[in-house]
Amino acid sequence: MVKADAYGLGMERVAAALAQALPEGALFAFGVAAVAEGERLRASGWTGRILVFSPLPPSDYDRGADADLTLCLSDIDAVELWAEAGTRAGRQLGFHTEVDTGIGRAGFAWHQAALWGAEVMRRAAGRLRWEGCFTHFHSADEPDLRPTELQCERFEQALAALPAEPAGEPRRLIHAANSAGALRVRGRRWDLVRPGIFLYGGTAGAELQPEPVVSVRAQLVLVREVPPGTTAGYGATYVAGGLERWGTLAIGYGDGLRRALAPAGGSALLLGRRVPLVGRISMDVSVADLTGLPEVEAGEVATLIGNDAEEEITLDEVAARCGTISYEVLTGLTARLPRLYSPAEAT
Ligand SMILES: *Cc1c(COP(=O)(O)O)cnc(C)c1O
Repeated sequence: MVKADAYGLGMERVAAALAQALPEGALFAFGVAAVAEGERLRASGWTGRILVFSPLPPSDYDRGADADLTLCLSDIDAVELWAEAGTRAGRQLGFHTEVDTGIGRAGFAWHQAALWGAEVMRRAAGRLRWEGCFTHFHSADEPDLRPTELQCERFEQALAALPAEPAGEPRRLIHAANSAGALRVRGRRWDLVRPGIFLYGGTAGAELQPEPVVSVRAQLVLVREVPPGTTAGYGATYVAGGLERWGTLAIGYGDGLRRALAPAGGSALLLGRRVPLVGRISMDVSVADLTGLPEVEAGEVATLIGNDAEEEITLDEVAARCGTISYEVLTGLTARLPRLYSPAEAT
């Protein structure tokens, strides 16, 4: 899954790296959420399959056909629109059907599969290629896997009720698992998995921890000693209790460093040591208390997410402090923050 600019990390670079890293045949397709993302991936030179997982506005179907995308369809109207786009393009276009087993945001109803299955077959006959069928888990990263098991049962029931592929046509590919599902759901043997967050260093409710993938770093641009009573940030919410040493970091919420982080015990790493962020995070800068680190000078690089020597601030730690999820922290990193890719570019 490389939707949302590969979770904020840069879709083109990430897709190229994945395509290179995965063994031959392991990469079935890239998953995006919108036609515009599929177009970008095509422009970057990717000629393999691209699945668009979210329902489209009606105006996007012809663009989807032009970019040779595979759509995921959730209702009969969408099947018809895609067939008509295929007719205009002069090609039989491919699609997967989504089955709603509880996510509620998209998909044909799981309990009516016999009904819509027959209608999808009828509309697709001679016009479209029905290549796959999938569902999406809503709670596969929760400790309790029973809701996910229920979704699996519903999905199996829907699959059993679907009409068989016409003779001579390839078997429809079946898939369900996101990262958490792929790591945690046992005993289901379907054709594909759709990992996202785990590839990008977010935990997925599993014992297996991801490797750290993303670091967020910023330079110290100003270091000063401040007398007791000095205040930091908008609202002057932090007051120096004694003689303190403060450092201004060139990163703020305009870069995606969330305001909620500072009052929630947020910290930075400098010279392998953890130091607290003090006062409110501004749009462009934030302030760290360096009192215990007299040797740090302007120009030093602070780590807001990632490792510095033995110390680490994980993506999930930052998300938890901010009361959100790793997905939102990553996709919230803004364009102002340059993306450097290792080993070539990161320092
Ligand atoms: C985003 C998404 C995924 C990936 O989910 P992760 O939790 O990031 O692994 C898989 N399938 C669909 C349909 C998605 O929208």
